[in-house]
Amino acid sequence: MSSTSISAEIIDRFTAIVGERYALRSEADLAPHLIENRGLYHGSSPLLLKPGSVGEVSAIMKLATETGTAIVPQTGNTGLVGGQTPREGKADIILSLERMNKIRDVDPVANVLIADGGAILAEVQKAAEAHGRLFPLSLGSEGSCRIGGNLSTNAGGTAVLAYGNMRQLCLGLEVVLPTGEIWDGLRRLKKDNTGYDLRDLFIGAEGTLGIITGAVLKLFPQPLGHQVAFAGLSSVEDALAFFNLASSLCGASLTGFELMPRFGVEITVRHIDGVRDPLETPHDWYVLIDISTSDSAETAERMMNAVLEQGFEAGLVQDAAIAASVAQQKALWHMRESMSDAQKPEGGSIKHDVSVPVSKVPDFMREAGEAVLAAMPGARICAFGHMGDGNIHYNISQPVGADKDAFIARWHEMNHIVHALVLAHGGSISAEHGIGQLKRDELASIRPAIEMELMRRIKRAFDPAGIMNPDKVVSL
Ligand SMILES: Cc1cc2nc3c(=O)[nH]c(=O)nc-3n(C[C@H](O)[C@H](O)[C@H](O)COP(=O)(O)OP(=O)(O)OC[C@H]3O[C@@H](n4cnc5c(N)ncnc54)[C@H](O)[C@@H]3O)c2cc1C
Repeated sequence: MSSTSISAEIIDRFTAIVGERYALRSEADLAPHLIENRGLYHGSSPLLLKPGSVGEVSAIMKLATETGTAIVPQTGNTGLVGGQTPREGKADIILSLERMNKIRDVDPVANVLIADGGAILAEVQKAAEAHGRLFPLSLGSEGSCRIGGNLSTNAGGTAVLAYGNMRQLCLGLEVVLPTGEIWDGLRRLKKDNTGYDLRDLFIGAEGTLGIITGAVLKLFPQPLGHQVAFAGLSSVEDALAFFNLASSLCGASLTGFELMPRFGVEITVRHIDGVRDPLETPHDWYVLIDISTSDSAETAERMMNAVLEQGFEAGLVQDAAIAASVAQQKALWHMRESMSDAQKPEGGSIKHDVSVPVSKVPDFMREAGEAVLAAMPGARICAFGHMGDGNIHYNISQPVGADKDAFIARWHEMNHIVHALVLAHGGSISAEHGIGQLKRDELASIRPAIEMELMRRIKRAFDPAGIMNPDKVVSL
């Protein structure tokens, strides 16, 4: 779809579905929905619709198909690859699910929660907690991102190591198709081998196949024991050896293992209010270890002590601090989750969200460091992330005093250098943020032709009119 304008008559017909109050047209109302978190994309749109029911979503999609109008789903607008941003110079209509934000049901016996696609992630976590259960998806953006967006980006976050990403946390979906048909797949089954898995197609599709309006999510028992520690180490090799040690001692109780470089800790302490370095002396690398146990608080304490003791004995850990209270645990996680924001005051930052097999993390980090500094002497590397998943946010801050625009102009060149090494190690150029607009062309250039063709065929089967978030993920 490539229309650059929509007639007033069509806009009136869309408006009539949701009512004037929920059809935003003014520049001021639309402005926050036309940009995304990193300021990389700025789109245009004549109209934002806020339907209040699945029936209204269906009516919108029917009309969109009839009139050939492109629809861009947007929930929390926290996505990091421009998938939720309407295209520039086109007349895409934004569909927001922010009014469809209810928790429909919580069943602590079956360990499931059913939520609207517009339910805020933090509200889902709270609803689970109120029933003595845990919904484990946890992200820096959890106060504003919504379940429809989490599912559509197959979000990962800090607890993937133990609980998996959004794909593993969802049992069933309700989806409005581009034609307006409604698929009620809100099944609560753990076992269901009845043909093609349609649910898995919509998860991670970034709104290119349909609108997710509801989901059945998996709940878990609330852990009785929780320990968080922060350790200083001298190398990524030691961090990998320490991860293996912690994994074998804790098994499924190891819920987080996050890697951070000294530069990341330094800028987080410098720029984020209330963050302080928990260790007395600086170390080249740090890990945050998170352990949760279901039987007792004592088990978690015993495990954490054993992990650190053996880490010291093996010469892997140089220094460590265990959080002594819930507030201290939160402070350690806050430091890790603020690391992205802390890069902003340091000037331009070129980002990569990559994964390699865990065993390859040290080789990748060493080779990427050498290649980046050879291409751009003085670049400051802030490579941190979910080490236990092999997922590194390989961010590069501009050299001190460099011109920000000239630095950002080298975005693709640096991506090319880092992604070539990722691919050489059998990794992925998008571990958890998706493809959107940012990596669409690169995806097409690195994936086998047959894989791209299968994606195009799926897209055409679900969206024959090509109106569903066009030009995102895969171009037709
Ligand atoms: C500070 C911060 C930290 C983050 N940390 C992580 C992290 O640790 N792990 C991680 O995986 N991600 C992380 N993210 C990015 C993450 O993808 C988003 O935060 C979130 O999952 C997207 O949800 P949203 O509601 O904001 O979706 P949006 O940004 O509104 O949309 C994202 C995509 O989903 C589509 N979409 C949205 N709603 C629907 C729907 N109902 N039906 C169909 N398609 C839909 C959109 O078209 C778009 O393509 C982080 C982002 C920020 C800003």
